Amino acid sequence: MLKVFKFGGASVKDADSVRNVAAILKKYVPKNLVVVVSAMGKTTNLLEKVLNAWYGNDERLHSYIQELIAYHQAIIIALFPDKKHPVHFSTDLLFGELEGNLSTPPSLDYDFDYDQIVCFGELISTTIISEYLVSEGFNCRWFDVRGLIRTDSSWRSAKVDWETTGKLINQEVSVFFDDDTSTHAIALTQGFLGATPEGATTTLGREGSDYTAAIFAHALRADEMVIWKDVPGLLNADPKYFSVTQRLSSISYLEAIELAYYGATVIHPKTIKPLQNKDIPLRIKSFLDPDSEGSLIHHNTSADSLIPSFIFKVDQVLISISPRDFSFIDERNLSEILAVFASNSVHISLMQNSAISFSVCVDYNQRRLEQLFSVLEKKYKIRYNTKLELITIRHYDQATIDRVLEDGKTVLLEMRSRVTAQFVVKDKNSGGI
Ligand code: ASP
Ligand code: MG
Repeated sequence: MLKVFKFGGASVKDADSVRNVAAILKKYVPKNLVVVVSAMGKTTNLLEKVLNAWYGNDERLHSYIQELIAYHQAIIIALFPDKKHPVHFSTDLLFGELEGNLSTPPSLDYDFDYDQIVCFGELISTTIISEYLVSEGFNCRWFDVRGLIRTDSSWRSAKVDWETTGKLINQEVSVFFDDDTSTHAIALTQGFLGATPEGATTTLGREGSDYTAAIFAHALRADEMVIWKDVPGLLNADPKYFSVTQRLSSISYLEAIELAYYGATVIHPKTIKPLQNKDIPLRIKSFLDPDSEGSLIHHNTSADSLIPSFIFKVDQVLISISPRDFSFIDERNLSEILAVFASNSVHISLMQNSAISFSVCVDYNQRRLEQLFSVLEKKYKIRYNTKLELITIRHYDQATIDRVLEDGKTVLLEMRSRVTAQFVVKDKNSGGI
């Protein structure tokens, strides 16, 4: 039995959380287990602040670095009161390396530097956790994922070289598992990171650790992958917006991809495909209540339509584009307009057209939108509304639509297919021209 577990930042945010991870592993450890771990708590956000202070010659750089070190030191001291334990030395080396990198000027390739700095979150967390598991009697080995996941050099959103990655993982990790005759073996490694053929560190995009776990599951043909979260499983709505939510106990890969596509943030959108391709079931379970059932994502579609799900995307912009010469919106100018969106990396979440107007809903990003408008305005008249919400309901019924559209929301655009209803809505804070 081979499984892959992923523990995110919230599940390792302090010493007690790390102890809880060990308790979960004691209970559920299969014969062979890959454990993928994120940076502790909000460390990645803090490292982004470190990076920006470094770039901006901001005097707070030093205090951010101290905050990062103090946060981890508190966890290390609580878990390893013995100052002679080797973890103190190995984490000091990492802190020193990070400080060393930041004492020279940035390379001025921001995205490259991002990956070289932000990776320390995962390097530090896995060093602490693997030492802790060993001290708790686990047969655990720390792997540097940069020797296992090979990517191109698209810094901050690196693309995986599947063939090389599969070979590397099978050479290193499978061999560790095969050689091991003990009752269990844990290969522990970093989420979110990879490396180029030249060995430069890359990252797979924010929240990318789920994806890392799926890469391992795929390469090793795992029996199951489990993401341990602070929620009881996949919910049919974000508890941030709805006080009453329902757990989806079983959905298909297809439904999970649709939900992620429409903006559900529970699992990283790239996670499903590598699992689906090898028919590996994915469980989402609560690290706060590990015995509860959680959610299962697998090939079976029979439960997909049982519970309507709703997804909110906030800070949306609705843009209407009309040809200045009053010509029709046709295939020719549509493809011209879409090419401008693609070349400016503005992702469209919804589109609709009439005879002389093409409407799209996109995420707000001032810099990209200004660039986009400056190109389109030569031929098209642009109008837009900001601060909107895009609401998507999967497997909708009228009761759900009424519930979601209550509190006097004004619907600016509506679209329905057989299973999906979408509404672009405005509340009193919305603006635009
Ligand atoms: N630590 C990274 C992040 O916060 C990756 C992850 O947590 O999945 O984005
Ligand atoms: Mg995370």
